[in-house]
Amino acid sequence: MVQLQVFFFPFMAHGHMIPILDMAKLFASRGVHSTIITTPLNAPAFAKGVQKSNDLGFQMSVKILEFPKLDGLPEDCENVDQITSPAMFPIFFAATRILKDQIEKLLEEYRPNCLVADLFFPWATDSAAKFDIPRLVFHGTSFFASCAGEQVRLHRPFKNLIYEWDEFFVPNLPHKVKLCLSQLPPHVRTEEETEFAKSLTEARESEFRSHGVIVNSFYELESEYADHYRNVLNRRAWHIGPLSLCNRSFEEKAQRGKQAAITEDECLKWLNSKNPNSVLYVCFGSVSKFPNKQLHEIAMGLEASEQQFIWVVRKGTNDKETEDWMPEGFEERMIGKGLIIRGWAPQMLILDHEAIGGFVTHCGWNSTLESIAAGVPMVTWPSFAEQFYNEKLITDVLRIGVSVGAKEWVIGTGGGNIKRDAVETAVRSIIIGEEAEERRNRCKGLKEMAGKAIEKGGSSYSDLNALIQELGSYLSSC
Ligand code: UDP
Repeated sequence: MVQLQVFFFPFMAHGHMIPILDMAKLFASRGVHSTIITTPLNAPAFAKGVQKSNDLGFQMSVKILEFPKLDGLPEDCENVDQITSPAMFPIFFAATRILKDQIEKLLEEYRPNCLVADLFFPWATDSAAKFDIPRLVFHGTSFFASCAGEQVRLHRPFKNLIYEWDEFFVPNLPHKVKLCLSQLPPHVRTEEETEFAKSLTEARESEFRSHGVIVNSFYELESEYADHYRNVLNRRAWHIGPLSLCNRSFEEKAQRGKQAAITEDECLKWLNSKNPNSVLYVCFGSVSKFPNKQLHEIAMGLEASEQQFIWVVRKGTNDKETEDWMPEGFEERMIGKGLIIRGWAPQMLILDHEAIGGFVTHCGWNSTLESIAAGVPMVTWPSFAEQFYNEKLITDVLRIGVSVGAKEWVIGTGGGNIKRDAVETAVRSIIIGEEAEERRNRCKGLKEMAGKAIEKGGSSYSDLNALIQELGSYLSSC
């Protein structure tokens, strides 16, 4: 029998590379030859996962493209996490467009049976079509956020609002979802044709013309929105998540994304000394960098809450390497009570530990779904992208989170100017009390459903089977 070959082309950001690597591993574990396409400086992030998969007898490989050099980007900048100012984002996007010719050469040479390309490569649909290859889109977010975002764009329910804190309901959704004006991205509010807005419009159009969308979610989590996406918004979609659960060994869970700034042993030793559900994990993903003032308020709020914590601190871009944000004597006072990780944390390993009782998160979809898959309730602190929608799913629909009250859409360097009292109140309420217990129980229920969804016969397992069978049927009809 001829083996299916699928190419996976993730956007150069860890929040996209991590789930696409998991996805490629999952396809490989079902007999597909999975090939990751990336650039030289991003390749190491895939190496261990690919090696592990090959060691298990599956077929995976990597193809490398040269990342174009453009003025306005730092030397050796091949990943969004190396961007140091919001003005660099459009230049970075422009650089990725130049990859088109290199991708087409690869497609022509290898003729894979399918190209799974990131939402941020809208041109990939046409590139694949040149060689009669179906292109699937991966946009890396929830059904809920996709539906809410689309209804907001289509109906502009905010158009008569004036003040930043004016509220509106997202129309046509199965639940009542309320947002305020300031939580919307500027390009949606103003309809201004910025380069970024144009890319997103192009991405939506190319999604419609593509073969369909792969969603990192499971049906039981957001069934009404999975149905809405397919039946009301007319998208072809396959849900195959939570993708993170394809990492079963300690090693795989510990080695996702970048090199951790703490050894797994040190981290687990610290957590092993704590009671179940007693520690907060605080981390805002791979892109957000909060200003010093905001970090200071978090420190004061955490200390006042008297809760134990692991806090992953990424420096603000303008703060050089100073630690001015740290309240005097904070780290000494927190010995045994709070662990600060400066850099990258082994997030999946931490969330899976029984000592973790809550996750203060920016509501990136990977972090959100990883928290759900680990049964951990969340304090929600969104900043940009579709994070404000994910917050509503967590707090209002699934009722497994408490909002810290962030209201301002700011790309990369946000924080929302949240005061220490709000941090203290939110983190206490996620760990302590009757409502905390109820939230935790709901979350444990979802964790169980997530586990079942990916096992044989589960909703995600079956949807992936259906997709692989469909791709295979094109192969046999060739
Ligand atoms: N992550 C991690 N360690 C860190 C920070 C992030 O392992 O210190 C991983 C996290 O587990 C998730 C991804 O990076 O898989 C972040 O993706 P998400 O969608 O949550 O946010 P983004 O970084 O895209 O804003």
